[in-house]
Amino acid sequence: MAITRRQFLRRSALAVAAASLNQSAVRAIVLSGPAKKVLVLGAGMAGLVAAYELTKLGHDVTVLEARTRPGGRVHTLHEPFSDGLYAEAGAARIPDDHDLTHKYVKEFALSLEPFYPSQLHALRFDHGGREEVPIDGFTNAMEGHFGYDLGGNPGRWQKIKGGTDMLPKAFAERLGNKIHYGSPVVRIEQDEKQARVVFLKAGRQETMTADNVLCTIPFSLLRDVELPALSSQKRDLIKKTHYDAVSRVYLQTRNRVWEDKGLNGFAFTSGAIEIWQPSWSQPGPRGILMTYARPGEAERITKLKENERVSTTLKQLDDMFGGLRESFERGATKCWMEDEWSRGAWAFVGFGNLAVALARDGRIHFAGEHMSQWPSWMQGALSTGLRAVKEIDEFVKD
Ligand SMILES: Cc1cc2nc3c(=O)[nH]c(=O)nc-3n(C[C@H](O)[C@H](O)[C@H](O)COP(=O)(O)OP(=O)(O)OC[C@H]3O[C@@H](n4cnc5c(N)ncnc54)[C@H](O)[C@@H]3O)c2cc1C
Repeated sequence: MAITRRQFLRRSALAVAAASLNQSAVRAIVLSGPAKKVLVLGAGMAGLVAAYELTKLGHDVTVLEARTRPGGRVHTLHEPFSDGLYAEAGAARIPDDHDLTHKYVKEFALSLEPFYPSQLHALRFDHGGREEVPIDGFTNAMEGHFGYDLGGNPGRWQKIKGGTDMLPKAFAERLGNKIHYGSPVVRIEQDEKQARVVFLKAGRQETMTADNVLCTIPFSLLRDVELPALSSQKRDLIKKTHYDAVSRVYLQTRNRVWEDKGLNGFAFTSGAIEIWQPSWSQPGPRGILMTYARPGEAERITKLKENERVSTTLKQLDDMFGGLRESFERGATKCWMEDEWSRGAWAFVGFGNLAVALARDGRIHFAGEHMSQWPSWMQGALSTGLRAVKEIDEFVKD
């Protein structure tokens, strides 16, 4: 479960050791041998940062991505909302201590803004009744349930102005046609001389060869890819790694009716569901309220039909804020277990399995949030991508 994992991560001496490993990965941006031909599988944060830094080092990089967009689990929803309003399907919050995320936000000159509103009141229902609290009451509730990694001073949390996917889009813009979209990988193999990747292009199989392959495909999908070259230990880990469910439901309203009652649209329920108003920093009058359910609640919501997810959420939030039904215009939902190219929100292989997960198998290297000391964060994906850059750059055949 994400809760105990996050708390454990914070305290773990291993996390500190891994953090220093990561620091050395960041520093080691110096081409250490002849340029290599590298195939990066997946254009999420891990694959993008690796492709970007390997290209800067002078390597010949190609990225194969199954989707028709970059970013993977970083995805800003503009549809079906009106007036240019948007909300996040995946990554949304950036804490002040995620140095790698901040580094690339700055490198691409993206603007940050506070994640939480300082005006009006949030609601808490986790003490048995309904409480109106300043926004730090909301982050206190988060800290109480999930640990400091999701709590602390509200001011330490920021978001990217315009949507989190401005970050992967910035990487993708610099990589240009090195990224091949709509190219799901179906087989990864290697021999003494090279690695080969088989992928589908418009339904037909194609093959590319490379000196090195960096695989950032989540284990939830990698288990369906043919991997004859991998050790049985790694294959077992890929099969058994559990991915958590997350569900989000979005309601667009004609007016921000909660504001008339002195509320900012943030709430924390007795079942530890977060309610956000992502539109608070976007121009009105329309607004979006959204729910964020983690494992336990998320599976229940995933099982419902789309219209039921919206209607039950509308009832739940109307009971909390009042006046929502009259102002409701349209709803949308995102359940990560259903996402064809994620099959889950996040995972952690476990500290005991980190070495197996991260170990290269010959010319095949690995990265992704699930094998980082910051699972379920962009920071985790970035750190493993940078680690792989160093490993590939320094690779010499055994
Ligand atoms: C609901 C939710 C909330 C989150 N909140 C936050 C937050 O507030 N702050 C934060 O920092 N982080 C947050 N995260 C975590 C963050 O989004 C992830 O850790 C990070 O984006 C993962 O990056 P990745 O590159 O490891 O994986 P992914 O983003 O999953 O990238 C993997 C890529 O591989 C592609 N792929 C899959 N199969 C194939 C195949 N067969 N062939 C080719 N390509 C394939 C996928 O399409 C995808 O683009 C959140 C995530 C979720 C889901």
